[in-house]
Amino acid sequence: MTDIVIVGGGVIGLATAYALRKRGARVTVVESHPASHGASVVNAGWICPSLPGPVPAPGLVTQSLKWMLRSDSPLYIKPTLDFDYLRWLVGFWRHCNARAYAHALEATTALNARTFELFDDMQASGVGYEEHKTGILFVFHSAANLEHDLRSLEPLEKYGIKPPRPYGARELHELEPSLSASITGGFWYEGDRHVRPDTLTSGLTDWLKAHDVEFRTNTRVVGIEHASGKARAVNTTGGRLPADAIVIAAGARTGELTKMVGATLPIQGGKGYCLDYAPSPVPLGRPIDFAESRFVASPMDGMIRLAGTMEFSGINDIVRQERVAALARGAARAFKEWPEGIGGATADSGLRPITPDGLPVIGWLPGFANLAVASGHAMLGVTLSASTGDAVADLITTGRTPDVIEAFDPARFTSRGTAKSTSSEK
Ligand SMILES: Cc1cc2nc3c(=O)[nH]c(=O)nc-3n(C[C@H](O)[C@H](O)[C@H](O)COP(=O)(O)OP(=O)(O)OC[C@H]3O[C@@H](n4cnc5c(N)ncnc54)[C@H](O)[C@@H]3O)c2cc1C
Repeated sequence: MTDIVIVGGGVIGLATAYALRKRGARVTVVESHPASHGASVVNAGWICPSLPGPVPAPGLVTQSLKWMLRSDSPLYIKPTLDFDYLRWLVGFWRHCNARAYAHALEATTALNARTFELFDDMQASGVGYEEHKTGILFVFHSAANLEHDLRSLEPLEKYGIKPPRPYGARELHELEPSLSASITGGFWYEGDRHVRPDTLTSGLTDWLKAHDVEFRTNTRVVGIEHASGKARAVNTTGGRLPADAIVIAAGARTGELTKMVGATLPIQGGKGYCLDYAPSPVPLGRPIDFAESRFVASPMDGMIRLAGTMEFSGINDIVRQERVAALARGAARAFKEWPEGIGGATADSGLRPITPDGLPVIGWLPGFANLAVASGHAMLGVTLSASTGDAVADLITTGRTPDVIEAFDPARFTSRGTAKSTSSEK
């Protein structure tokens, strides 16, 4: 049996711990907070293989230049002179082109091939969480915008994702009578699902604890001991933990961890917000993407979660009221009846880990054969969690890189052999 330490108890770290434990490994999860928090808990909960598009997309540069300085716009980029951040931003903009987008679609669709099967396996093994199989609806005020979005989905057919059929106003309002009369059309990805995110992380945590996985919570990894290309242990605020292999799944903070072994990994936090209304102010049968207003509404048992916005303002958990208010304003336009202002709704934020090409980094860190990274899942961390965990568990237990993660090799960002022997302490 092998001792594996996983740094980070978000959905990626937990799904990886699950897949490793299923293969018989001894696993310890180290999490700096009392439990999963941030992105893995505040997200919209969509398991959406039908939406494999990365964040950098053709046309985003022009759009983001218009938006970037307005702090209540769907995309906010805080001006800064930080060199790493500016280099990341240039890399990100360079990937906003058709070729990079097509590469991302192909790679992400391949990783998603077993997504539902792996989630179903997890449930069958006793991981309990709230899941809904109602599909995801996309709605539009403008017929031209609907037409444009439908055209942009046509290339997905090449990857096995059938273009959805358009829905007219009458059909949409029959499906969702709470929608505002100004919604004129849309489409429905009927096969996608959604979960209540905090039940997924707590369900995985409960299962792992019941299967002898050790949790070191309120414990921060501050250093990684390594020698001759081999990671030996993590140093934490609670002491040293020896390991046969280590997986860094620290979300937007993953770059801080790889720096401990001398490797630079460009990951920024794309902050998103949620605004929870409980009880649900309107009946809602399924999640809805209001693409024109760039926010989504997810119904969960007894509540509706609004989620959205993308803010690059560094690694912090500040909740900006103007951005939360923009979500509430969007809902007031989208539904016939919606409470004025934010009222008693609860706001929170989380950082999506985003690389310059918008794709995850999954695989061995260059220079190491027992130190892996699983991060950078951007807007698709829940969707890709089970398949990432499965692939990382294969990588660690067999030593071979599964085909489905070859496109996500961390080496595309780091130079090989960067590791020097140290017992690093941050
Ligand atoms: C508003 C919003 C909506 C979203 N909606 C969806 C959606 O509908 N579907 C979807 O698929 N994805 C969605 N996402 C994206 C998804 O939530 C993320 O991709 C995913 O949660 C990332 O998970 P993670 O485990 O990599 O990172 P995290 O959730 O950030 O977890 C990393 C963990 O590592 C811990 N950590 C960091 N440093 C250390 C250290 N030094 N020592 C110990 N622990 C450490 C952190 O405390 C944290 O708990 C959304 C995100 C947001 C913000």
